[in-house]
Amino acid sequence: MKGDFEVFPMIHRIGILTSGGDSPGMNCAIRAVVRAGLSYGLEVYGIYDGYKGMVEGNIVKLDRKSVSDIVNRGGTVLRTARLKEFKEVSVREKAVGQLKKFGIEAIVVIGGDGSYMGAKRLTEMGINCVGLPGTIDNDIASTDYTIGFDTCLNTICDCVDKIRDTTESHSRCSIIEVMGNHCGDLALFSGLAEGAEMIITPDHPIPEEEIMRTLKQMHDSDDNKRAIVIVSEKLYPNIYEFAERVQKETGFDTRADILGHVQRGGAPSAFDRILASRMGAYAVDCLLEGKGGICIGMVNNKIVDYDIYDALALPRDKHVSMLRLIDILK
Ligand code: ADP
Repeated sequence: MKGDFEVFPMIHRIGILTSGGDSPGMNCAIRAVVRAGLSYGLEVYGIYDGYKGMVEGNIVKLDRKSVSDIVNRGGTVLRTARLKEFKEVSVREKAVGQLKKFGIEAIVVIGGDGSYMGAKRLTEMGINCVGLPGTIDNDIASTDYTIGFDTCLNTICDCVDKIRDTTESHSRCSIIEVMGNHCGDLALFSGLAEGAEMIITPDHPIPEEEIMRTLKQMHDSDDNKRAIVIVSEKLYPNIYEFAERVQKETGFDTRADILGHVQRGGAPSAFDRILASRMGAYAVDCLLEGKGGICIGMVNNKIVDYDIYDALALPRDKHVSMLRLIDILK
């Protein structure tokens, strides 16, 4: 395929942007898109600050060197932003005007489901866009893993390992709140990896009475006087108040920790680098084939593409077998 497009490319200039929440591995995806595009004879433009930069014309031509030495860097060198006005047709028309000014014919958008909607809308206005799943949350059903999830998971495990040391020393209960937006995967996967005593996620909520009863039993038994509880964000309005209730009702000396933004940063894992590189190169292939309004995923270790509307309508995997495994391994 590469040979055909080197001779007669249908498009000549593509753009790339990162949008919404950042995630480790976005830089690897940027690098893959730039390098694949250049090797197919395309010109590649970096659009800074997501859709905001597109509207403002914050657009710069990239070369091979522009993406040197970024494979190991977290965050996104193109920076990211949110622009809710992008939902308005008049604002998107401005963006299309800027793209026309630069001669950009097609775009790769790296972001979450909100960014995918922007990409679909732009495609409907004549600019083919391909979305890559860049988010730590793993909340996109059209891919087994999103770019950044694995790195974030490893960061959480690192943090929980450290918290565990002091939790054990003091025979405490530690309640650890992790990110994930409304998706429980970060809590579920890290809970399994850490052998947590309890995992509370949107897909696996536990009534408070049951939480108290279980933790009290643990506390009162002689052989298990510490507990790690991993909780998805947004389930408790105030995790510190929840910890106070646990302490009062179970007798456990209890502490709460919100891991916070440390979860978003850091060098991407090898898994995320490889995932991002495969998806980035595939996205350029799709644009060269004249495709738009689609997003890229990895399903059963194969890189695939879906129409964005179809992708957003897919039910998310609730990982029931993993929940069962957690019960068995308790
Ligand atoms: P994420 O992409 O991580 O889900 P957001 O939901 O904040 O993050 O979306 C990122 C950006 O995508 C928004 O700031 C907005 O510019 C654009 N966007 C989101 N939803 C739409 C939509 N329905 N139509 C057009 N653009 C959208």
